[in-house]
Amino acid sequence: MIKLEGISKKFGDSTALENVSLDIKRGEFVALLGPSGCGKSTTLMILAGLLQPTSGKVYFDGKIVNHVEPKDRDIGMVFQSYALYPHMTVLDNIAFPLKQRKVKKKERHQKAQEIAAMLQIDQLTDRMPSQLSGGQQQRVAMARALAKDPLFLLLDEPMSNLDARLKVDVRDEIRRLQLKLGITTIIVTHDQEEAMAVADKIAILQNGKIQQYGTPDELFMKPVNLFVAHFMGNPPMNILKCDLLRNGNERILRGDGFDYKLLSTKKLNTEFKGTKVALGARPHHLQISKVQLENSIPAKVVLVEQLGREKLIKVMLGDNENTTNFIRILSPSDLNVSYNERVYLTLDSEAIHIFDEETGKVIT
Ligand code: ATP
Repeated sequence: MIKLEGISKKFGDSTALENVSLDIKRGEFVALLGPSGCGKSTTLMILAGLLQPTSGKVYFDGKIVNHVEPKDRDIGMVFQSYALYPHMTVLDNIAFPLKQRKVKKKERHQKAQEIAAMLQIDQLTDRMPSQLSGGQQQRVAMARALAKDPLFLLLDEPMSNLDARLKVDVRDEIRRLQLKLGITTIIVTHDQEEAMAVADKIAILQNGKIQQYGTPDELFMKPVNLFVAHFMGNPPMNILKCDLLRNGNERILRGDGFDYKLLSTKKLNTEFKGTKVALGARPHHLQISKVQLENSIPAKVVLVEQLGREKLIKVMLGDNENTTNFIRILSPSDLNVSYNERVYLTLDSEAIHIFDEETGKVIT
């Protein structure tokens, strides 16, 4: 339904987007995810028609829309700063896009009231925006975006002004509403948890390029490079620089203060002939043992945080007090370890990732 083909955008000499291609199917909820400045908002603005790409094509339903005016693109937009009209009531705010379309007053108010009911703000329609909480203003902005039954919805960090708890409620509500209406939706966010929670697919961007486009599971379980691996997941994946030593069929990862024999049945990419790799292990794929086991890595506990259902344990590898070789492990909360205790780590060989340290690309 929406297709970006080889989109690049330059602002003077600086490149905000480089050769971005993306396919979005009807009814999909897609998140554009990445750190500040990676080009998320620029992509959204190009979809909205508020910015022109330097090169590349934008298709809606198979037709090129590069030169279609924003008002003719049939989209609903919600911005970070809801941008409600302060001098209009909630009802008039919601009905405003219909007024622009010259829909009669009675009809547009009826429609606005219906949408307000759907978003559970029908008790607030006589109020002015200044009399609303952040969460309520967010809903009014959503209602206004939906009033004209747009073909698709663009959301630019729509929850960033809400407190942590409300954010979770609102994001669930947005997802529920999106599924109910079946409306194709694109959300811009820098919050990987938010993207994982709402989206069918995530496009993860860095430096104006799409690093990976796939389902939340694909990005989490099969990251194509170090950037994606580290960006997805909280606490983040542990990354350790190692040398990959090959001895016949045996493969050893040698890091600062440890040797780890690779037992994985997964094949290494045979094109990779180098030795410098990065070992990636998610915090819940490591186990702590108090006794040395075969192929375990000695470590020392430096921090224990009780999170409730589990414990976050930070350990140091090797004996060098100045090391930066720290690992975070998520353990069952009944595991008792204390500061400075010597422990041994075992890794789930099937669950670890190995990357080419130089290019960052995954090699297993
Ligand atoms: P954030 O999360 O901080 O909003 P973003 O991922 O949405 O970031 P963009 O706003 O798309 O990033 O910006 C991408 C790059 O383009 C940045 O380096 C930014 O400085 C640059 N940029 C964006 N708009 C302009 C502009 N109007 N003029 C010059 N440079 C711009």
